Amino acid sequence: MKIHRIASIPGDGIGVDVTAEARKVLDRAAERHGFGLEWTEFDWSCERYTRTGSMMPPDGIERLSAFDGILLGAVGFPGVPDHVSLWGLLIPVRRAFAQYVNLRPVRLLPGVESPLAGRTAEELEMVIVRENSEGEYSAIGGRHNAGQPGEFAIQESVFTRVGVERVVRFAFELAGERSGRVCSATKSNGLIHSMPFWDEIFAEVAAGYPDIYSEQCHVDALAARMVQHPERLDVVVGSNLFGDVLSDLAAAVTGGLGLAPSGNVNPPGDHPSMFEAVHGSAPDIAGKGIANPVAQVLAGAMMLEHLGEAEAARAVDRAVSDVLAERSAVTPDLGGSGTTAALGSAIAAALR
Ligand code: ATP
Ligand code: MG
Repeated sequence: MKIHRIASIPGDGIGVDVTAEARKVLDRAAERHGFGLEWTEFDWSCERYTRTGSMMPPDGIERLSAFDGILLGAVGFPGVPDHVSLWGLLIPVRRAFAQYVNLRPVRLLPGVESPLAGRTAEELEMVIVRENSEGEYSAIGGRHNAGQPGEFAIQESVFTRVGVERVVRFAFELAGERSGRVCSATKSNGLIHSMPFWDEIFAEVAAGYPDIYSEQCHVDALAARMVQHPERLDVVVGSNLFGDVLSDLAAAVTGGLGLAPSGNVNPPGDHPSMFEAVHGSAPDIAGKGIANPVAQVLAGAMMLEHLGEAEAARAVDRAVSDVLAERSAVTPDLGGSGTTAALGSAIAAALR
């Protein structure tokens, strides 16, 4: 029997609750589909940071490198600044393992209402391909003249030819497997160095894919289009910052953060990829047992697909759809009164 070794990092807040449900569902899928999942759990989190001063131990990256996949809950804790969790865990992992694509598929699931009234599931199916290793999320820059009238801050972005080209190419390949349409989000009228560079590389890559319909949009117009004409979008590729913003928007128009999964993917497969929900640790509902586990379960399905267990991944997707359509177990964010654990158990029980 094939055994996949998985590192689980539940993290903080609702990350802990939803990761437990994802494990429940994935274990059941493994049992049904004849493979094994061998889990190792790590307590790396902002909670650990408040106890020890670091999110993960110094050899954290080295320890993760032995795994076939990583399932991450969410990190974030009231009082711990976001840059601690970003730079203490998420960014080091993404960079060390060259997870240069952040893949965020969204679709309208059965029984879920979109805030865009009257839209069908076909019209609302898209995937955001977010650049995940460089761009605007850079540590270069600084704060100057603190406390003086001339106080200022500088934040630099770094775009490399290699970095832009590989993520754009990934988007074109993905478009070839899906609708054959790809749209790139930039803002070349405002950001006059980095974005024209991105546009140029996008056009060069596009020339190698004559059968793919490609467009370049300004991110502001694209955000409007995502709400007004989502049916004209399928694969959307953007920089680290624009991809981040657009994927929360895409999640919102397809029914909310509780349903949106993501993968930090190392496309060549020579390092582990890391799967997580798009949402954060949601301190406002942490510990209440009402977080929606679906995003994390679907992130688990993306991980199965990535591990080569496509049939099991599709079975998990189907079980989620069946349970949501039936509606009896859904959590408060979807208008129900179900608990995190009950919804997770219902999905596990629906697996065929
Ligand atoms: P973090 O700092 O970790 O990113 P956050 O404060 O940004 O956390 P999110 O986790 O992104 O919060 O959540 C934003 C909002 O969406 C919150 O009001 C939260 O309650 C809601 N939310 C997020 N995820 C879920 C979920 N799985 N189920 C139900 N509601 C959710
Ligand atoms: Mg957040």
